[in-house]
Parts: sequence; C-alpha cells; structure tokens
Amino acid sequence: MHLCEWLLDILPKSCYLYYFSSLAVKLHLPSYSAGTHEIKEEIAPEVLELNPDEFTHTIQANLRLDRHDPYFDLKVKLETTAAAECDRCLSPCDVIISVESPLLFVIGQAPAGDIVDDDTFVYIKPGTTDLDLATDLRDFLILAYSGRHLCTEECLGLCVNCGANLNDGPCNCKVN
Ligand SMILES: [Zn+2]
Ligand SMILES: [Zn+2]
Repeated sequence: MHLCEWLLDILPKSCYLYYFSSLAVKLHLPSYSAGTHEIKEEIAPEVLELNPDEFTHTIQANLRLDRHDPYFDLKVKLETTAAAECDRCLSPCDVIISVESPLLFVIGQAPAGDIVDDDTFVYIKPGTTDLDLATDLRDFLILAYSGRHLCTEECLGLCVNCGANLNDGPCNCKVN
C-alpha cells in the first residue's frame, strides 16, 4: 500500500487534500461522492515552491468541489498576507492576497482536433485518482501577488535627488 493511501485511511475524513512533497497538493478523487464538498486547508508556502521572501505566511485554501461526473467543478479561494517592498519608498509592506478562481476538470479525452482555448477547462484521464492542484494554486498566488505594491496609496516615495523618504517629511532639496 502506498504511503499516501495508508495515511488517507488514518487521517480524519476532512483531510482528503494532502501534500507530502513540494509541488504536490492533491485531491483524492475517489474520496468525494457526487455533490458538493467544502475543503479547508492551510498550505505552507514552501509546499508550492513560492519565493520565501514574498510568501511569508501560511496560505488559507478554501476549496468548494462540486462533483457531477464527468465534471469536477472547483472554486478555489486562497488567502494570505505576503511581503513586498513599496514601489515608491522601498519600505517593507504587506500584500493582502485574496483570490478566487474556478477550475473545471472533466474526465475523458479531449475531442480530436478540438482546441480548448479556455485554460480553466482541463481534461483528466479516466481512472485518475489524484488531482494535483499545486501548479494551479501556485499560478493563482503568483498572479495575485504581481503588480504594484505600495505601503499606502498616498506614499510620497523617495526624493530623486537625495534619496530621503519623503513620507518622513520634506528633505532639504525642496528649499531650492
Ligand atoms: Zn511607500
Ligand atoms: Zn531630497
């Protein structure tokens, strides 16, 4: 018996989402009957191989699985507080991440020649027992983290002349 299967037997039934190595956050499909399931997990950033300088806190994952064969309809909600440098004044700031994304899996073969251009729609092989969500979760988090980071919307930034943090008050350059 595979270690993961053995652990699944002894874990409480709410712990079907499991991860034992980096880049593996798996949904054990046979554990879910038809209908809706709520899965709550805390995921360590290192499990998703996220940059430890940016992802400093545990990620709260809230998955809502609606199984209606051949469909596995997932709504993924991820929440965490990440760390960044303010783009204007370079001081450390928090990046509040709260992202909700759908993921739709279908058991079966993609129709030949049919190009599926919606990347939230994924075909999985019949007989698949474990759905690894790590790459998707990682991508959602990295996308949510990207973009502008400011300590406050009103941040005054650094003086281009002397480098003083203008949030601390005007620098002497302003006199001239
Ligand atoms: Zn700032
Ligand atoms: Zn200055």
